[in-house]
Amino acid sequence: MGQKRDYYEVLGVGRNATEEELKSAYRKLALKYHPDRNPGDKDAEEKFKEAAEAYEVLRDREKRSLYDQYGHAGLEGSGFSGFGGFEDIFSSFGDIFEEFFGFGGRSASRGRPQRGSDLRVDLSLTFQEAAFGTETEIEVTKRERCSACRGSGCEPGHGPELCRACGGSGQLSRSQGFFTIRSTCHVCRGAGQVITHPCTRCRGGGQETVRKRVAVKIPAGVDNGSRLRLSGEGEAGGPGGPPGDLYVFIHVQPHEFFERRESDLLCRVPISFVQAALGDTITVPTLNGTKPLEIPKGTQPGDVFTLPGEGIPSLRTRRRGDLIVQVDIRTPTQLSKRQEELLREFARLEKGKLSTRIKSMFKGETAR
Ligand SMILES: [Zn+2]
Ligand SMILES: [Zn+2]
Repeated sequence: MGQKRDYYEVLGVGRNATEEELKSAYRKLALKYHPDRNPGDKDAEEKFKEAAEAYEVLRDREKRSLYDQYGHAGLEGSGFSGFGGFEDIFSSFGDIFEEFFGFGGRSASRGRPQRGSDLRVDLSLTFQEAAFGTETEIEVTKRERCSACRGSGCEPGHGPELCRACGGSGQLSRSQGFFTIRSTCHVCRGAGQVITHPCTRCRGGGQETVRKRVAVKIPAGVDNGSRLRLSGEGEAGGPGGPPGDLYVFIHVQPHEFFERRESDLLCRVPISFVQAALGDTITVPTLNGTKPLEIPKGTQPGDVFTLPGEGIPSLRTRRRGDLIVQVDIRTPTQLSKRQEELLREFARLEKGKLSTRIKSMFKGETAR
């Protein structure tokens, strides 16, 4: 330790500075060198301590007069020997810091147990997985309770100690005139305990970042935009606080045939104009394979047919929706000679019928 600097010099005030001047000078220095503003800066830390010590002496009439008469030596018998560390400073200056910074000593107040944050992950599913449900694992990076100290923040073998500043109550009181003002203890931040040997793994924070695999059961019938909540799988909470939740946002890949409308499935199936005219039994795709579907004689373009229970299970009722098949009637583009002959023959037979039908349409009669 080098020679101690003159306290007035440290604060940058004259020997006859008033209480107000001392306070204002100290306030400026404390704001400038506050450890929250200068993390890890040793020089700032020394200046901060030095200013605190100077102010502690000069604001006290008795100590100031001893110092004025005898210098640093005058204080040696007075029981004051400077501050050991930040905690001493904050315990004697708690009230001043509240005035200066508008909040508790070292950092923003921590108070009651804090719930952990919620997390979000996105999960892509195939159409089939969404329809029938699946079980999968997702990987999340999150803050969890420290595995070395189990969240206590204390190095194994050491426990938290009772806060000496507040006697474990977590509160400090000071009197101002007739009033007693209570404020949160700045040493333990209201916890009533201090950690003397912080855990080396989490540096006393009680939490560590982990990468974790979480099993997820996807219920049958989830849809694009569905959101699953895994309770308690979010980030760890503050001391005594519950963890947050993990939200899984579902994205469903489109299917090559099927379009989904709630729990019904829609698909288009091509048939020839002959099948439409004469009727037929066709094969349609379903989610479980194929199914036969009877097309009646005289089916028109755009007609829809329903296969009940071949849709997707409803998330709420578990009942499966329907498969709705819309037929797409195709006109042949390549005809053999024989096919063309037959169609021309068909056309001749149809001509008479069609022209009378059109005439009756113009007369406003009902066409058959
Ligand atoms: Zn730890
Ligand atoms: Zn305390």
